[in-house]
Amino acid sequence: DAKENGRGRWSFFDNSMQETVQTKDKMSRELRRAIDNDALDVAYQPQCDASANEVIAVEALARWTHPEMGSISPSSFIPLAEETGLINDLGQWILRRACRDAHRWPDLLVSVNVSPTQFKHPRFVEMILETLDDFNLAPNRLEIEVTESVFAGQHMTILKSMKRLQDRGVKIALDDFGSGYSSLSYLRKFPFDTLKIDRDFISDMDDSLEAEAILTSIIQLGQALGMTIVAEGIEARHQIGFLADNGCHRMQGFYISRPLADEALAEFLDDRAMKQAMAVAANEEQQ
Ligand code: C2E
Ligand code: MG
Ligand code: MG
Ligand code: MG
Repeated sequence: DAKENGRGRWSFFDNSMQETVQTKDKMSRELRRAIDNDALDVAYQPQCDASANEVIAVEALARWTHPEMGSISPSSFIPLAEETGLINDLGQWILRRACRDAHRWPDLLVSVNVSPTQFKHPRFVEMILETLDDFNLAPNRLEIEVTESVFAGQHMTILKSMKRLQDRGVKIALDDFGSGYSSLSYLRKFPFDTLKIDRDFISDMDDSLEAEAILTSIIQLGQALGMTIVAEGIEARHQIGFLADNGCHRMQGFYISRPLADEALAEFLDDRAMKQAMAVAANEEQQ
């Protein structure tokens, strides 16, 4: 689909089958090395509150710059890591880095993507709690994003893990909501804290009333179930207006900011804080 095609900065599937197998082998060895050498990175994409004034959360997104090939999309290397068994170590690396960096932004929630393989690891919950402990991070600063593909498997085990994490204060988000097949039944069975509406719905709202109707219904449904609603893929100002008017709680997308390296995020937050302070001062002068 367009989503996959559009995102890839580099694809594993440009070559013949034979080459593809060799490339995969080589790439997974290099990914292994990148994990071991701390050569990966995390980009943080800000999420604003409904007024779009205040940054309240960031989503951590894995980044890999290959020495020869340059920047490789996570849409390529995350599936590769899944296939080659590197995903647990990769996921652990990302989580540790995000927990470390989180101290730079004490007011923000940090949202980390977790793949189904990680979630189903027998020590997943312990691993999360130990990492929070290692970095002395309050569990309520962490949100975990899963997609519905996590549910191909033992529901009872998944439910237990979710509840154990939630009991400690960790939040769980359902990512890319609406992009799969059976999301509704999962909403009934699993107590998600947060619902992230797939960005296809956001981009479609400009062309169709149907898409708007679906969006408002998703928001209402999420609210009725007591969830925090996040919209991702916001690329225009009017989308924020519509979503805010309809009760969406958190806004994420290129219109607010692209994912940023830690240094750039620090600057972005300072810059916004300064602009806000100036706006307040100007307001007081007027009164
Ligand atoms: P996702 O979790 O749904 O993350 C949102 C993706 O949408 C990010 O792509 C982000 O850069 C992109 N995005 C944000 N705002 C906009 C916008 O306004 N317009 C458009 N067109 N795109 C926007 P990215 O960083 O390339 O990541 C792609 C996917 O790779 C993620 O989708 C997630 O499924 C996976 N991923 C990334 N990092 C990790 C990770 O650390 N662990 C796991 N398991 N998966 C990850
Ligand atoms: Mg996500
Ligand atoms: Mg998403
Ligand atoms: Mg850095």
